[in-house]
Amino acid sequence: HAPLTELDPEVAAAVGAELRRQQGTLEMIASENFAPVAVLQAQGSVLTNKYAEGYPGRRYYGGCEHVDVVERLAIERITALFGAEAANVQPHSGAQANAAAMFALLDPGDTILGLDLAHGGHLTHGMRINFSGKLYNVVAYHVSEADYRVDMAEVERLAKEHRPKLIVAGWSAYPRQLDFAEFRRIADEVGAYLMVDMAHFAGLVAAGLHPNPVPHAHVVTTTTHKTLGGPRGGVILTTKELAKKINSAVFPGQQGGPLEHVIAAKAVAFKVAASEEFADRQRRTLEGARILADRLRREDCAAAGVRVLTGGTDVHLVLVDLRDSELDGKQAEDLLHSVGITVNRNAVPFDPRPPMVTSGLRIGTPALATRGFGAEDFAEVADVIATALQPGADVPALRDRVTALAAKYPLYPDLGR
Ligand code: PLP
Repeated sequence: HAPLTELDPEVAAAVGAELRRQQGTLEMIASENFAPVAVLQAQGSVLTNKYAEGYPGRRYYGGCEHVDVVERLAIERITALFGAEAANVQPHSGAQANAAAMFALLDPGDTILGLDLAHGGHLTHGMRINFSGKLYNVVAYHVSEADYRVDMAEVERLAKEHRPKLIVAGWSAYPRQLDFAEFRRIADEVGAYLMVDMAHFAGLVAAGLHPNPVPHAHVVTTTTHKTLGGPRGGVILTTKELAKKINSAVFPGQQGGPLEHVIAAKAVAFKVAASEEFADRQRRTLEGARILADRLRREDCAAAGVRVLTGGTDVHLVLVDLRDSELDGKQAEDLLHSVGITVNRNAVPFDPRPPMVTSGLRIGTPALATRGFGAEDFAEVADVIATALQPGADVPALRDRVTALAAKYPLYPDLGR
C-alpha cells in the first residue's frame, strides 16, 4: 500500500525530475503533447490489472463487464470523431497499429509503396530493418527535389511499374498536406489497398483543420498521443467490410491482452477531441507553426543559412533546413536544448549528413498550444529559436526568455513541482 515515493524513491525521483523538466522547458518535439490530467488518471487506474483478450461482448476472460463499457466508449467516440465505420482501439502503439493493418491486408513478400524514411516517412512504412522492410518487398516514393513536396507523378509511375498490394500515405516529417483522393485514384488503378497513417495530423483532422483521409482510405491508422493529445497508443480505423480482418490481425494476430487502462485514457482523449476547446487548441497549433515558419524565413535567418523546407507549413510542424548553416542538426538540437527548447534533429531530403547528425530540425507546436500558447507567445518563442540559430547567440539571455514563457503557462500545477 505504500505510495511510490516510499516504495521506490529512485523511480519517484526520476518521475518528479521529468515533471519539472516538462514544466521548466518548452516542448517542441512535433510528435509530443501533454495529456490532460483526466487521461493520466484513467491510464493510472486499476484497469491496468485486467485481462480482456478478445473484444467487447466476446472476451476470453471473465469479469470484463466494466472494461467492455470503456472499450465500447472508445470505439463509439473515435468512429464518430472521424466518421469511420469501424475502429480497433487496442494497438499498443502506432507501430503496432501499422503492423496489424499490414498483417491484415498483406502476405509476406507482397509489395508495399511508402514514403522513403529519409524523405519524411516512418520506420513502419518500409524501412530496411523494420518489420515492414523485412516482411514485405518495399518500393519507396520521394519528395521532389524541385519543391520538396511528395512527387505524385513518381507515386503513379512506381505504382504502375511495381503493382503494390498496399500504398501507404502518411509521414513523420513533412510540412504539407497529402492529396488523399489522388492516392486513392492511383491505388484503385493498380488494385492496391490505400492505408493512410495520420499519426501526426489526426488532431488537426479531428478539429476539421486538415482533410480527413477516412473517406478515401481502406484503412487509416493513427497514434493517440501526438496532435490527438491522448495516452501513448494506436488505433486502426477501417470499413465494415475490413473490420473483421483488422480485428483478428490485432488480436490474436499481433497482440495478447489489450491495455484497458490505456483504452480508457484513449476514450477520455477522444471525448476531449470532440470539444470546442480542443478545436481552439488545434487552431493555435497551426497558427504557431505558421508564425514560426514566417520568422525563420526572415532575412537574418537566410543570411545564417537557415531555411524553411517548402517555404512554410500547412500543419503543426516546421522543417528547418540547415544544409547551408554553420550548424548541423545535432549542434542545433543541442543549442536549443541549452536555451530550454526541446526539438529533434531530422534528416532533410537529400541530406548529405548521416542520420545521427543530419542537416535539419523538426519543430512542432502541439505541446505549446496545449500549454496555452497564443500568437504572441509563439512569436516570442519563434524569435528565440531564430536568434539561437544565428552565430553568436546569447544563450543565457535566450534561456531567460524561455523561462519566462514557461512560467507564464504553468503545466500540471496540481501534480506538484
Ligand atoms: N506512424 C507515424 C507516421 C509516426 O510518426 C509514428 C511515430 O513517430 C508512428 C507511426 C509510430 O508510433 P509509435 O511510436 O506509437 O509506435
